[in-house]
Amino acid sequence: MSKGLRDRASLTRRTLLKAGGAAAGAAALGGCLSSSEDGEDQVSGEVLTAFGNCWMCSHNCGQKAYVREDSSGKKTVVNLTGVDGHPRGSAGEGTEGTLCPKGLGQLDKTHDPKRIQEPHIRKNGELQKVEWEEAFQYTAERLATFKEENGSETFLDATSWAETSIFSTVWRELYGTPERISRGIHVCAGPTFVSGGMMGVGSNNRVPDYQNSEYIIAWGRNQLNSFAGQFEAKGTLEAIEKNGATLVTIDPQHTITAEKSDKWLPIKPRTDGALALAMANVIIEEDRYDEDFVENYTHGFDAYAEAAADMPPERAADITGLDAEDIRKVARGFAEAAPQAGISVWTGTAQVGNGWKATQNITALNGLVGNIDRPGGLRLWKYASTASFGEVCEQDYTNRAEFKEPAINKYDEYSDYPVRHITGIAHNLVPEMVENGHINGIVVHHDDPLKDGNADAWVEALDAMDLVLSIDAYWNGVSRNADIVLPEATQLEKDTLGTGNWSAYPKHTWVTGSKAAVDPQWNTKPDFDILVGIADAMAEETGNDDWTVFEQWDTHEDFIDDELSAIDLTLEDIDSGEVNYELVDEFEYESWEGDDHYTFNFDLDQVPPFAQAAEEADMDTAPEWIPPGTYGDELSEDYPLEFYDVRSVFFSHASNQPQERLRDQFAKRNELADEDYRGNYLHINPEDADKRGISSGDMVTVESETGSGELMAVVSERARPGFVTAEYGFGETSATPDGEGMNTMTLHHKQMDPITGQVDRHIAVEVTSSGGD
Ligand code: SF4
Repeated sequence: MSKGLRDRASLTRRTLLKAGGAAAGAAALGGCLSSSEDGEDQVSGEVLTAFGNCWMCSHNCGQKAYVREDSSGKKTVVNLTGVDGHPRGSAGEGTEGTLCPKGLGQLDKTHDPKRIQEPHIRKNGELQKVEWEEAFQYTAERLATFKEENGSETFLDATSWAETSIFSTVWRELYGTPERISRGIHVCAGPTFVSGGMMGVGSNNRVPDYQNSEYIIAWGRNQLNSFAGQFEAKGTLEAIEKNGATLVTIDPQHTITAEKSDKWLPIKPRTDGALALAMANVIIEEDRYDEDFVENYTHGFDAYAEAAADMPPERAADITGLDAEDIRKVARGFAEAAPQAGISVWTGTAQVGNGWKATQNITALNGLVGNIDRPGGLRLWKYASTASFGEVCEQDYTNRAEFKEPAINKYDEYSDYPVRHITGIAHNLVPEMVENGHINGIVVHHDDPLKDGNADAWVEALDAMDLVLSIDAYWNGVSRNADIVLPEATQLEKDTLGTGNWSAYPKHTWVTGSKAAVDPQWNTKPDFDILVGIADAMAEETGNDDWTVFEQWDTHEDFIDDELSAIDLTLEDIDSGEVNYELVDEFEYESWEGDDHYTFNFDLDQVPPFAQAAEEADMDTAPEWIPPGTYGDELSEDYPLEFYDVRSVFFSHASNQPQERLRDQFAKRNELADEDYRGNYLHINPEDADKRGISSGDMVTVESETGSGELMAVVSERARPGFVTAEYGFGETSATPDGEGMNTMTLHHKQMDPITGQVDRHIAVEVTSSGGD
């Protein structure tokens, strides 16, 4: 940590002191191996413990790593467990630390020989192994030439979540690109994030206070599967057990969460917005809403009530395929339990063309019953305030992107996209921007955009770009086609800092951190070291001192310590006790009470970017019903089935990287483990399967207007009639191009939510038997 910064550090004290803090985490004797027989066989020696923070999704669940050290000092990770009391991994102290199957997969990844083991650069058309020095030097040369020939504003930063926070410093501020795809908004749950932020529940604060809830609606959300064993699943089950909470699942698919629910509403896809308005209709008509909250803390109720009046349950029943009495029952149950009633919503209702309105209508229900930041309702989250890069940096440099206008705002070609007023560039627009010459290069970190949008167009776009730089641990659609491949260490090989996150037990700000459990394997480097290596080479190549900005820190740990100085902690403090997290500050419910500035916006007419985008998209600023097909695909005689791709806890390409063990478990879950096939599956209702002569285990062809591919069929009542699903992330352009299954995004053809640019994963398809099995 730099001295000046130490002096300036604010002194927010942690509220929880470590128990037994003297224990050296990386040296304590373990002996608690429980599951990794393979690991035990691989290497003998002393077992040590260390910590990690899972990054297989972005939630930072704490890990305890069991590491065996052999006589030569080589360390091998042989087992992983959760950390009891970790704010994410368990549902609070004493509720057992666990990892979901994806998190446990880090064990396989650390020593996986299929990883990218050496830096590569493309020479004479072929990717060739080189040493790091040459790779950095070549990267700097190419970046400098690219800037000269194309302008750095045409370089796209497509970096995903990372263990270090300096990606945007390198690409935006030092290199000077204003172009960035935000993974969270454009390919995950843009409508949920953005509507939440604008309406007054925070852009990431959409998770209920499960443990205190009496009524939980899992709306297009499968939390008992997607986060099996983690806070949300434990919190939901605890609410059922301790509070006798009612669980309702609204989903076209009978998920694992639906299995545990009191009620499953098998809604027709893309009609969630109508159901939400009908619930509001019942709640308002029957005077079951929170008049005090609505009157004192909200804006736009009249416009909302008008839209709800237009959607009686009988009309919604026709639209959604549900029973009007069921709609009334769920609306009453939710309102009666409020404010101890929460809605769990995320990607399911967001990844559709009318996703913006669906999530706005659903979010509005929270304001209506006044469950905002109340026990059992929807919490307003707070994060630990660690220091930002600007605060810890003691060196002046020029922010080269600061005044550059992104192409989507600059050029007339994009004037028809309302998204430009709110979230800027959209994932699905990139190929078009490459064709127009407004994007000519890309850096992709730990991601595979070819799985998240118009895949075929993205393949062509990558091919047309002047420079493709991949920083990743695995070969995938991007790294295989890159000009430069820099092999990244995986999470247990790096120092990490997580500054708290939404969806954890919700009464503390918290930080979690760990030192690397093992050295980087093969010739790989942590992402922090890769970025600093590029910066050093750029300083040499360009002679520009701005690029020496990272010289003020010797190591990533020094940098993390500076970030932590704002809360008077160091990485050593966090890592050296019996747990690897700190609860920094406690916060109460009802943070809006007495806050004159707090407003829950039913109507977004006073949010200028939204008002402008809505006008151009021909949408209302208040909640309203927008039928399927207004944006995105319409069903037709040729393509009569609604296809939607889904994620599973057995998601074999977790964090965009392959995991064979999970694929085997996944095949077992689908009762098709005896088949050789290890790809994704087409789930189809028996009614639809019979009409097409399809049985479980048959290979089928799925075809959209623009693409097709082969999958193995699972015939099951779990999919509602007319609806078919397959899991995301397999096939050509993925991490296992030669494996079975298909990249479902090869069916996709650029449809998106016009307001946020969120990729619309809903596709009209036909399914036919491919013959044989
Ligand atoms: S929920 Fe699972 S994948 Fe996500 S951070 Fe936690 S253990 Fe890792």
